[in-house]
Amino acid sequence: MTDEYDLIVVGGGSGGMATARRAAAHGARVAMVERHRLGGTCVNVGCVPKKVMWYASETAATLERAADYGFTLDGYRFDWQALREARDAYVERLNGVYARNVERAEIDLYRGTARLQDAQTVEVDGQALRGRYLLLAPGGRPTRPAIPGAEHGIDSDGFFELAEQPRRAAVVGAGYIAVELAGVLHHLGTETALTVRRDSPLRGFDPLLREALTEAMAVDGPTLHTGFVPAACERQGDGSLELVSEDGQRLAGLDTVIWATGRRPATDGLGLASAGVEVRGDGSIPVDDYQRTSAPSVFAVGDVTGNDFPLTPVAIAAGRRLADRLFGGKADSRLDYRDIPSVVFSHPPLGTVGLTEPEAQSVYGPDSVACYQTRFFPMNYALAPQEVKRRTAMRLVTVGAEERVVGVHIFGEGADEMLQGFAVAVRMGATKADLDHTVAIHPTSAEELVTL
Ligand code: FAD
Ligand code: NDP
Repeated sequence: MTDEYDLIVVGGGSGGMATARRAAAHGARVAMVERHRLGGTCVNVGCVPKKVMWYASETAATLERAADYGFTLDGYRFDWQALREARDAYVERLNGVYARNVERAEIDLYRGTARLQDAQTVEVDGQALRGRYLLLAPGGRPTRPAIPGAEHGIDSDGFFELAEQPRRAAVVGAGYIAVELAGVLHHLGTETALTVRRDSPLRGFDPLLREALTEAMAVDGPTLHTGFVPAACERQGDGSLELVSEDGQRLAGLDTVIWATGRRPATDGLGLASAGVEVRGDGSIPVDDYQRTSAPSVFAVGDVTGNDFPLTPVAIAAGRRLADRLFGGKADSRLDYRDIPSVVFSHPPLGTVGLTEPEAQSVYGPDSVACYQTRFFPMNYALAPQEVKRRTAMRLVTVGAEERVVGVHIFGEGADEMLQGFAVAVRMGATKADLDHTVAIHPTSAEELVTL
């Protein structure tokens, strides 16, 4: 029996789309199966609508600071519904762009739920497709804590469906999503609590950034409740919600509770066992350095692999390199998962690449690690009253006598745009001296990183 396709891709999100298009560009016959909207999590319920909401909340923060620069605003009003409609229309336009890209690339798109029959056959709502290779890129879904009343809350998908702005909200969780959604809500005017079950949000991040974020939240941010282990979410007689912690703390009078307690790979019902694809207990699919699963003809990329960086550019990069290897003649093409930069769109944003100080100490030994850091009020606050100022924090982590930079950590206005270039420097093996020899751009916050 001849294979109908060279590649069948399950999932039309970041990883699946990138792999399918690159494979098709190399001349492969490609099918893609998608059960929801093209673009996956990032375009529909992730990066894109989140960043729109973040821009809106940053605009609100800018309006608040306008008086520092002599502006008198004769009042302004924020319209959640208008923002939502404009945001959703933008996302729909992107869905259209993706559909046209698929068509142009001559990828056969199957709308429906994919299930593996064996390591070369995918069933889509009763129709069997056969491929030389299969790519699994089904992404993940939000999870909720298994506590009474969890159903009263919403998750990040539900956040993007909110028809009205919450008046009083609690966001539960300590990762990227919790910090971002809580910040957006707060800055758009919702009275917002952020509950974390341990001592701070973003636990895996460099301690300097965590400290700076916590300090900034105290100046202007969601109210942070640490040591709050959620035990129940109760609906009260007046319709409001009450969040209860294991040690009896209560957050009352909430109209919205948002669970941002992590995500789980979308592998349930995918038929992995029929294809001989191993799966971990948490639902993720183990892959080797070349994105190979335990079944020789089946590959996986993106969030489903449970890699340490469940990010859109990572899924895209892994997929493109895989397609280059399978169909583009680049025998050793694969993604190097080291030194991947990422940004949390907090207020202000926070960016990180490479090792934190504690990680560097544990890898290289405490005596080999030297850190350079600074904390300062950025110039944007020069004319602002003291009590609204949020400090920027930056740390370089270096190792060895040559002081090779192995970590760059930035919290502050512009960190999101600043980090990319420094990530290039880290990958190229830049030393502290290379940074010192680079002439500063003045007046910026970024210049502090070359004058530490
Ligand atoms: P996905 O993009 O999730 O795509 C998987 C696709 O597969 C989906 O469209 C799904 O419908 C489809 N699918 C699943 N199972 C089947 C099946 N059986 N049959 C057919 N189709 C199926 N990352 C960043 O880099 N920057 C950010 O700012 C950022 N913000 C985020 C904000 C939020 C709120 C969230 C939730 C995530 C964010 N991410 C961000 C992470 C990013 O969205 C993911 O890392 C990325 O989308 C993963 O891509 P993927 O291809 O693995 O999966
Ligand atoms: P994360 O895994 O980053 O964070 C979830 C956190 O919630 C956990 O780390 C844990 O923190 C806390 N948690 C887990 N269970 C509970 C519980 N029962 N009660 C209270 N808290 C709990 O997941 P996210 O869903 O925030 O994000 C998923 C991924 O998506 C991220 O890792 C990131 O890669 C990506 N993303 C990227 C963004 C960006 O690039 N800007 C934005 C959004 C998402 P602790 O153990 O400290 O309590």
